[in-house]
Amino acid sequence: MKPKLFIPGPTHVEQDVLDALAQYPIGHRTSDYRELQSKVVSGIKECLYTNQSVLVSTSSATGLMEAGVRNLSKRKVANFVCGAFSKKQAAITKICGLDQDVFEVEWGQAITAEFVDSVLARGDYDLVTVVFNETSTGVMNPLQEIGEVVKKYPDVLLMVDAVSGMMGAPIKVDAWGVDMALASVQKAWALPPGFAVTSLSDKALERSRSIPDSQKGFYFDFVRMHKAGEKSETMVTPSIPHLYGLSKQLDKINAEGLENRFARHREMAQTVREWGRDRFGLFAQPGYESDTLTCFGNKAGIDLIALASEMKSKNYLISGGYGDLKGKTFRLAHMGDLRMEDINDVLGVLDEVIESL
Ligand SMILES: *Cc1c(COP(=O)(O)O)cnc(C)c1O
Repeated sequence: MKPKLFIPGPTHVEQDVLDALAQYPIGHRTSDYRELQSKVVSGIKECLYTNQSVLVSTSSATGLMEAGVRNLSKRKVANFVCGAFSKKQAAITKICGLDQDVFEVEWGQAITAEFVDSVLARGDYDLVTVVFNETSTGVMNPLQEIGEVVKKYPDVLLMVDAVSGMMGAPIKVDAWGVDMALASVQKAWALPPGFAVTSLSDKALERSRSIPDSQKGFYFDFVRMHKAGEKSETMVTPSIPHLYGLSKQLDKINAEGLENRFARHREMAQTVREWGRDRFGLFAQPGYESDTLTCFGNKAGIDLIALASEMKSKNYLISGGYGDLKGKTFRLAHMGDLRMEDINDVLGVLDEVIESL
């Protein structure tokens, strides 16, 4: 038996979803395929509360993080950084040779709407990048409020790395004014890794049309991707197993109900926080703790490397800190298809192991 996944990606996958991925392939230029993609895309639109576009991408999320900045900025990007993943988005922007300014808060703090407003008031930018759920620190940024602020600047697009938040907490794409919300499927979508999805607003698509191919490249050109998507196809051969898996997962999400799914995540998050708040301390700024994963400090001064390895020997995978926080924090994911029983189980085992250290 492989260790059960309580790390923030890849996450636990249910057997029926795994089985769905293992179906015999179909041709990707057939009506059966178009029916599959069409069902998946409309399901994702419902989950993201959007009537605009959704694109599917055979890549990890990082491909779309790169695609976003290359397709959506003509002038200058404002990258907001609050941890390792948002820092990576800023680094990608730089590597792509785009004009940018980076605005970083102390790790563990959130990006507030006021901060975004003060930066945009300068009038220099046409694209904001922000992470919804900063997986390295356990901070969930106030996306709705940030969206409201960005709406005041009609030339500015809002691009959101929603990788570890999407499907664990609501993202009301149209109402909140999110131009791009991207995620890979191995986090709160609870599928195996290798595939990513994104919403794309009409405004974002319009912007991409005005950007030269030399900046966008071919594989991740939103205009080309969208054109294929209009026929319920992809430009090139997609990971058909992931579309089967998403189709199955969307049926399950429908059966549970979106609101119930989000409530389940909030409940798991509260239980995990209560369990360790006093003993270890929460790394996230109070009021901005994530619904999908918790990052604990180490007030108790225990050996976190030993903790993770003891847990692994008992068949539970938990995560030491990420990036600069390695060895200083530990993280427990409570996302995707994990349930309260799983959380109570892992917390019980953690108690035993900590006692024995
Ligand atoms: C996991 C993660 C990524 C990277 O996703 P990949 O699918 O590995 O490319 C990016 N951003 C956040 C917030 C993440 O949690």
